[in-house]
Amino acid sequence: MSETAETLPGLADAVHAGLPSAIADLSRLVRIPSVSWDGFDFANVDASAEAVRGLVEATGVFDIVEIRRAAITGSVELGRPAVIARREPRNGKPTILLYAHHDVQPPGNDEDWDSLPFEPTVRGDRLYGRGAADDKAGVMAHVAAIRALVAAVGPDLDLGIVVFIEGEEEFGSRSFTTFLAENRDTLAADVIVVADSDNWDTVTPALTVALRGNVTFKLTVSTLSHASHSGMFGGAVPDAMLATIRLLATLHDEAGSVAVHGLVEHSADTPAYDEDKLRHEAGLLDGVSPLGRGEILSRLWYQPAITVTGIDAPTVQNASNTLSPTVSVKVSMRIAPGQNPQAAFEAIEAHLRANAPFGAQLAISDVDKGSPFLVDTSGWAVTEAKDAMAEAWGSDAVEMGVGGSIPFIADLVEVFPAAQVLVTGVEDPDSRAHSPNESLHLGVFHRAILTEAVLLAKLNSRT
Ligand SMILES: [Zn+2]
Repeated sequence: MSETAETLPGLADAVHAGLPSAIADLSRLVRIPSVSWDGFDFANVDASAEAVRGLVEATGVFDIVEIRRAAITGSVELGRPAVIARREPRNGKPTILLYAHHDVQPPGNDEDWDSLPFEPTVRGDRLYGRGAADDKAGVMAHVAAIRALVAAVGPDLDLGIVVFIEGEEEFGSRSFTTFLAENRDTLAADVIVVADSDNWDTVTPALTVALRGNVTFKLTVSTLSHASHSGMFGGAVPDAMLATIRLLATLHDEAGSVAVHGLVEHSADTPAYDEDKLRHEAGLLDGVSPLGRGEILSRLWYQPAITVTGIDAPTVQNASNTLSPTVSVKVSMRIAPGQNPQAAFEAIEAHLRANAPFGAQLAISDVDKGSPFLVDTSGWAVTEAKDAMAEAWGSDAVEMGVGGSIPFIADLVEVFPAAQVLVTGVEDPDSRAHSPNESLHLGVFHRAILTEAVLLAKLNSRT
């Protein structure tokens, strides 16, 4: 309770005073359409890396600030540009790594947005735009927290700080493993803050302590060597669509719970969350019932889920009276904390092969796997982070799970096993990351910056 309590008033003032420029800088970043996916203009990702490098350098506290790239795993091709910065600790203080990503998801169709995706727009208390929340607000929370700390205590910090702003998180972090190996010394830290998650709501902070993993793949179902007139052979031979529909229907039981043997659940208490809230937040239509069993948050955080997210088949407009010989679908599975992704993939593959109707031929390709993660909440950094949240928000933090996945966290922990990981965020349940009308709640942004500034101040004076 020494220096933090004294510096906090000055710090809160500095965060408040810096908020307009933080929002202006965030808006400038949102205007750069830094989609990292193949098929988009990578010059925009380069431009966004350069803009972030400039913002980090201008804080004036780093010994090095660079844009670096690494080879994609299993390839000679380089991944997208990341920004990396470091200042060394002094006087026995710890080093904290601040992670976020400057790339964004594709915007989808402009017509689905109320204002253009790369035209940052404030409506009410929210800033709308692709990346306004995920995760350019995470980038700016780091920058603004450092600015506020420097404004409150001067640039002569004892704390070691590393900034790592990735450029391909939304495209699967394909050069992440190589990047960690090549930049291990620059990235080494005692505490890692991953600012890419959610808060409980706009007035209650959350520390994310559990993340589901994911397994995705393409499944191709074939029953015929060529298409045939449905009037000629329909009724005597199975088309691939029929086989696919029946096969996919075996993945869930009557209640809609996943029915694949070998997929595990994690068991832990969850906060109260009623069906009305689920209906509202997910946009469930009147008369449509929720899926699954057990506490609702256990279904979202600690149980597996399987969704078919895409299908290659004739479109309705082009549907002739034909038996389809082959249908492909994209299967997306979320796996519970504690589940090994390879074991989960083997479980669903065995299930699909055992349940292929009519002896249909299956092919599985494009398999992608990401590990789930459970935070060790016993470390001192978790206590400091929750104290910082309580000070900044005036409300205690909820320890929450997240249904989504941040697979690279498991990679970080593998390379830095002694580091304590804090998964924080700038989002709230209405942020709609990855969707049209993505937005940032500006009050949450303010409190997230203050939280991080308080945390930096606490570590800077930690004895
Ligand atoms: Zn993100």
